[in-house]
Amino acid sequence: MTTGEDSSSGMTASSIHPGAVPVCAGCGCLCHDLELLSGVPDFRNCELARNFMRRAGSGISRTQDDSNDRIAMAASQLRDALHFGRSIALVGLEHTAWEVQKAAIALAEDLGAWVVREPEFQGGGSPWAASFAQKGCTAASWGEIRLRSDAVVLWYAPLWHTHPHWMERFGPASSRAHRLAVVSPDSSLASVGWIEDQMIRVDPGQSNAFLRAVRASLKDDLQESPDASVRRFVHTVRNSHWLAIVRGDDPPGLADAFGVAESFADLVAEANSTGDRRVVSTHVPSEINAAGLDAVLSIRAGLSTPMRFTADGPARALGEWSADKADFVVSFYTGLSEEDIPAGIRFVTVDAADRFGPDSNSGRTISIPVGTCGLGASGTLIRGDGVVVPVRNVRKASDPDLLTILHALRNALRAKGDSNSAESGDANARFGAEAAQ
Ligand code: SF4
Repeated sequence: MTTGEDSSSGMTASSIHPGAVPVCAGCGCLCHDLELLSGVPDFRNCELARNFMRRAGSGISRTQDDSNDRIAMAASQLRDALHFGRSIALVGLEHTAWEVQKAAIALAEDLGAWVVREPEFQGGGSPWAASFAQKGCTAASWGEIRLRSDAVVLWYAPLWHTHPHWMERFGPASSRAHRLAVVSPDSSLASVGWIEDQMIRVDPGQSNAFLRAVRASLKDDLQESPDASVRRFVHTVRNSHWLAIVRGDDPPGLADAFGVAESFADLVAEANSTGDRRVVSTHVPSEINAAGLDAVLSIRAGLSTPMRFTADGPARALGEWSADKADFVVSFYTGLSEEDIPAGIRFVTVDAADRFGPDSNSGRTISIPVGTCGLGASGTLIRGDGVVVPVRNVRKASDPDLLTILHALRNALRAKGDSNSAESGDANARFGAEAAQ
């Protein structure tokens, strides 16, 4: 371990929580074995971690009064929206700690709000969640994959750029007998230790056809595909006893994402039904707690898909909802700004303090600064493969934590829930006028 000040993060030895567990909360890998700089993980070798630090920043905070004013303003506007039956969406909970996710879904129940993931925000549903709900999936922990697999296939998961610590355990430097990566045609191999022979270049727009061709070839032993890329994938499957197919976030240019997710599940099932082998799939996510949100949604609603929560129970409407149907959006660490939100939609954004300038409140936007879990805030995170990791803040919190904010919003809504009627005419006029700005 090294010591010294980490000037890039703005953290010093004196600002570090004495009980900190040195975990990087930059993504769902939750690396816990990084070298330390002044007691905080050394993020510098990982692109995702550097992005995480850039976004989290060094914590330009508000005064307590300013934060309280913004929370009160958000509560007032949410109350108006609730009173007049507006459609409310909570977006980005996959970036938050488990405790926050539970509290946010309780708030969603009070508001009758939608809970939507950031990637689904514009598109109306997760193809992978839909595929899982319909077809199931064969999964494994990362420990199992590391210990048991004799081959690893990366499916549009250029982890050598984004998750190098994952690659240290599973990539070319490990003892895997066979490695193969399906990548976009323009994917770079620069200085990563992979060679062209370990790559199959498939246009994401053709990936569904590719998966179906691999499956057809696996089914029909005698019929070799004329496509060399398909033959290489099939060869890898046929020659492995314990194969892990690791996918990353969907690549740009993917066509028919729902069809791809279904074909992927069909291929894994087919590979497990032919020959004496075990094939598992896993997702290495770029968000810190997508697995936690899956767990919370599944516990509360039975399914991990876009869901509207009400006091009468959750209602699922996969594929039927998109951002332009909301009147009011509350965003958590998404990086969305007012320009990303269609005109006329009210917007509360909750994010790391330094994303907001002093005049960040506009007619239709309220910005609430908070600490980021793993830096200025603590919380429970669930690793991409389901391992639960309690994470402590590694520097003093300078802003209210998100759990406190959600409780304050909920209490304000409940306390004033019955007193709105006298103000309803004014509030309705205010909501309509401000939303139009
Ligand atoms: S792989 Fe993820 S958890 Fe590990 S250092 Fe990079 S961002 Fe952090």
